[in-house]
Amino acid sequence: MSHACPECGFKGKRVPLETVQALATRPLEAEASYELCLNPSCDLVYFKPEGARLFKSDLKVKVWFKEPDDPDCPVCYCSPLTRRQIRSAVSRGAQTIEEVRQLTGALRTGFCRTENPTGMCCHRALEQEIARLSAAYPSP
Ligand SMILES: [Zn+2]
Repeated sequence: MSHACPECGFKGKRVPLETVQALATRPLEAEASYELCLNPSCDLVYFKPEGARLFKSDLKVKVWFKEPDDPDCPVCYCSPLTRRQIRSAVSRGAQTIEEVRQLTGALRTGFCRTENPTGMCCHRALEQEIARLSAAYPSP
């Protein structure tokens, strides 16, 4: 069961503890369970229903959906690929994840669970970003 974010009231999503431990800049209580605030405009990233809170500044990485306009924010964390790199590949004609990888030379490490702030694979976010950018660069 998920709880509401204590800062904004938006819904939270459970994330694996190893994800939070890998991304936090300070040590965490070992057996705590954390949730991710899904609100793009809230500065709180992870929280425990009982109180512990990790804000953007407490993390080693930027959270892609909380920085929608930051070109240097990663979208794929396991490759890794920033929004700027994806935009450049799309402007040169890439339309799929494979084509973006070929043009950028990015290689997947597959460590999404400890590198992506959601603890899940970057695939879906990457696809959505390519689709969003492709709309700005229609294919000839
Ligand atoms: Zn929030």
